[in-house]
Amino acid sequence: MVMLARRVSAVGGSCARPRRPLPQHHPPRRLLGGGIAKEVKFNLRELDKKWHARSQQPRWHRLREPTEKTAYVLPMFPYPSGTLHLGHLRVYTISDVLARFKQMQGYHVLHPIGWDAFGLPAENAAIEHGMHPKEWTMQNISAMKKQLRAMGGRFEWNCELHTSDPNFYKHTQHIFLMLYKRGLAYQAEAMVNYDPVDKTVLANEQVDANGCSWRSGAKVEKVMLKQWFLKIKDFQDALLDDLDVLAENGRWPERVLAMQRNWLGKSEGTLLPFEIHTKESGTQLGSTEVFTTRLDTLFGVQYIALSLKHPIVQKLAQDDGPLRAFLDRPQDLPQDSKEGYLLPGIMAKNPAGVIAPGVALDVPVYVAPYVLDDYGSGAVMGVPGNDTRDHAFWRANTENSSIKQVIIGEENTATKTLFPDTSDDRPIVAKGFVGSDVPEIGGLTSDEAMNAIFERLHASSVTVEKKTNWRLKDWLISRQRYWGTPIPIIHCASCGTVPVPRSDLPVRLPDLPGKDFQKMTGNPLAEDPNWKICKCPKCGSGAERETDTMDTFMDSSWYFFRFPDVENMATPIQPTRASANLPVDIYVGGVEHAILHLLYARFISKFLATTPYWPDGTAHHGEPFKHLITQGMVHGKTYSDPETGRFLHPREIDFTNKADPRISRSGEEPKITFEKMSKSKHNGVDPNTTIAKYGADVTRAHMLFQAPVSDVLEWDESKITGVQRWLQRVIRLSKVTFIPPTVMKSFCPLPSLDLPTIELLGALRQKKVLKRPPIPDGSPIILNREEALIASLKPNEQIFWSRVQEITSSVTKSYAESYSLNTIVSDLMTMTNLIWDQQHTSEAMSYLRFTATLNLLRMLAPIAPAVAEEGCEQLLAVATEHIGHLPDHPLARRMYRSVFQLGIPVADLDIIPALNPTTVCVFQVDGKKKFDCKIRTPPIQILKNHKKTQQWVLDQIAATEQGNEWLEMGKGKLWKIKATDEQPHAEYPQLPESWTPVLVKNGKLVNVVSRKMGKGKKDSSSQFDPATSEIFEPRLLQTMEPDGRKGGSIE
Ligand SMILES: [Zn+2]
Repeated sequence: MVMLARRVSAVGGSCARPRRPLPQHHPPRRLLGGGIAKEVKFNLRELDKKWHARSQQPRWHRLREPTEKTAYVLPMFPYPSGTLHLGHLRVYTISDVLARFKQMQGYHVLHPIGWDAFGLPAENAAIEHGMHPKEWTMQNISAMKKQLRAMGGRFEWNCELHTSDPNFYKHTQHIFLMLYKRGLAYQAEAMVNYDPVDKTVLANEQVDANGCSWRSGAKVEKVMLKQWFLKIKDFQDALLDDLDVLAENGRWPERVLAMQRNWLGKSEGTLLPFEIHTKESGTQLGSTEVFTTRLDTLFGVQYIALSLKHPIVQKLAQDDGPLRAFLDRPQDLPQDSKEGYLLPGIMAKNPAGVIAPGVALDVPVYVAPYVLDDYGSGAVMGVPGNDTRDHAFWRANTENSSIKQVIIGEENTATKTLFPDTSDDRPIVAKGFVGSDVPEIGGLTSDEAMNAIFERLHASSVTVEKKTNWRLKDWLISRQRYWGTPIPIIHCASCGTVPVPRSDLPVRLPDLPGKDFQKMTGNPLAEDPNWKICKCPKCGSGAERETDTMDTFMDSSWYFFRFPDVENMATPIQPTRASANLPVDIYVGGVEHAILHLLYARFISKFLATTPYWPDGTAHHGEPFKHLITQGMVHGKTYSDPETGRFLHPREIDFTNKADPRISRSGEEPKITFEKMSKSKHNGVDPNTTIAKYGADVTRAHMLFQAPVSDVLEWDESKITGVQRWLQRVIRLSKVTFIPPTVMKSFCPLPSLDLPTIELLGALRQKKVLKRPPIPDGSPIILNREEALIASLKPNEQIFWSRVQEITSSVTKSYAESYSLNTIVSDLMTMTNLIWDQQHTSEAMSYLRFTATLNLLRMLAPIAPAVAEEGCEQLLAVATEHIGHLPDHPLARRMYRSVFQLGIPVADLDIIPALNPTTVCVFQVDGKKKFDCKIRTPPIQILKNHKKTQQWVLDQIAATEQGNEWLEMGKGKLWKIKATDEQPHAEYPQLPESWTPVLVKNGKLVNVVSRKMGKGKKDSSSQFDPATSEIFEPRLLQTMEPDGRKGGSIE
């Protein structure tokens, strides 16, 4: 049988190695001292200067062979606030690492960056300081660019863009006009959220749960205005359905999908009428439609709530002073307000009455701010027994009123009555069974009841209708502000709204002098007649420009189409470029953008996929982002006074004893927590200070190591030293002092970097580095070439090389599939120590360690590029001496430029079973099986010696958990079988002296026999005779695959 030396792609290969717990917050112990206290410190900061400039060269792409494969890795572009914070640093580090990895994998990588440059803060700063928003924005961009370069990120600066550039917003306007021509942009009078502080309209999404602006924090007012909307609702089915596509293979995080689903808010229910009348006279006031998803709770309706703008409410308010006062107030109320106004003497008739005649089902009617005008028809039914919000509303607005619970958890149970302040006073929200005492439908399941009620109502000619409701509303894009993309529309008295002709784009913002912005209120565009007054493009008569600008989410909804074709002046993107580069392969950003930005970007992309600009779009369902990585927030170490809870400035802390900081004033121990960074908590960290102190690579590696990318990162600088020591050790390792001078004399690295193990060993054999396997002539063992090559490595070398393959596979898998970047750092730390800890056992070992070190540096390069470059330079300085005669050697001076040209190493997983073969060994005591365990198969070098093989197998067994239970000297179960205190066996110290091991089939079975048993009658159950048992097997491979399985890996 020939072992195929198949080259295994580490990415596609299978590695069944179980995930071990990560040393997440503790760097490997050895790095913290223990034996290497005198490590020479290398100044890692110096490396930034030396290597960053080199990696910014545009020729960087040519380090790898030209390829057709492209990878588009994109971090969400920043708002130019002026300062780069740790959250930014985290997102750009993640994207930079993945982009560099893709480059090393052989992709032509696009990793661009731009600026989300329009928006209110610029305008507010302009108003405050009397400067043009553009000036403020460009200053901030240039400051942040400097900071970005310091972190060692490699971006495509030649396609940098900013959305306030007319060359960019020209195309934003073009996309708007395409939407307009398709009927997807329209103007409508609408009740809008108005921010009285920023003096602008806000989208619903920009109003928080307390009814405050997301930006200014001001209480939002409701006003009627004519606004521009985009018909995102036309795409709602696709936006919902295609979430399933994004869920495949975990392409998008589940929680983001859930948030999108929830935001779209599709619900299927029933529309049914409630008639409203006066209690006394029965005068009909009209009928209102109510939408419910839970028709099964109809018999539990205890009130109806109407929205503030409901026509019946508006009509009643004319004669109801207190109601008018109530209507005027609730602008200030949060949307989840429990406030309600009971309409005196007004009742609503529950249509359930037609199913159960004679049952009193009239209910009171409230006016409540929580009822929205635009969801259904501005009226909802209240079921306090089976809905949490309705329950809270009922308890807040009634006194001592009992609640009827009609849906019950158990079958055949009567309805329940809930009383306030009792332990039972809780709604049952889940579906269940209709209470058995409910007329006509008692005992049905919720689903059966919904059907039955619908059918009965329908049969009684009540107008019921099945209806699908969506929470999603059309996207309001109008903003009454200066610093945004002007909406390219002209209003003409005779022609109506006229789109600006494409040839007239961009509609530029008027270039107002900076001082004009000082103390400005309202919309500068509306107040600039020079800009506003224009000619109608259709009839030529006097007309006015639209003075609204677009929501900045419009800019960010398509900017990623622009990077691949940023020079293109005529169109947003050439179709060929779009199809070649989109969708974005990996999109990285904060989870705070999980709803709006991603929803709008998906909408506009789906739209562009229906235009000629993205011909391949439909093949991708118009989805713009193939993989999404949402990184968690960065929290800062926060000190507070345990007594008062006051946040303490680090200045107020005494750090004399770093392990035990104290509050300077009181000497007390401060409370230490990790919280969102903010000025008031004094816990902010300036990433540039950290980079200046430790170097970019240490900062990057520490940031990745501290937490999985999607988790909150607790930034604790005191833990950075572990990473610092590790990278210093990598640099030391790269000096390859582990190669003894005698070996070094003729040391010449192999010309091929990623040889499968067998070929690597073959090449070493040819160089006479690898000696023949120590199998004596005339031995019954016959080896083929592969087996002989492996057997010429010593057992420790085999284990070492198999671990190197495992780690390589794990690292490449984490880079390519799971994006588990913290695992990569921990794997690379393990690999560093593994190489470091090996002994020099042969000349071959020098080659294995050299290759492993080179591979370590190649895998480290995306994370710590400067350290990897420096390490490689050192490594090759040693090696290249001897390859001068090989000018085409990839490591020769003529060929080698950068570690990034060497690519990512390929793990040879297929070789692991041969390098580290395992056997399932049955352990018997006096012929009775006690357990079985997996052990490393005895190496071929010792198989000829029976005693040595037995010792090896017993050693292996003793090292397992169960083996230790039995064999631990003096304490193990075997040692307890005979009461006397026995001495250890002279040859097999794992056993008490009166026991003898009997090995069968090279370790597939070990029977330990007590002297009495061994000497006396033979145990019939064991069925073997040690004298005749098969000790040698003719083929090594048979011992490698004891249970008939092929391949497999170590567990
Ligand atoms: Zn006109």
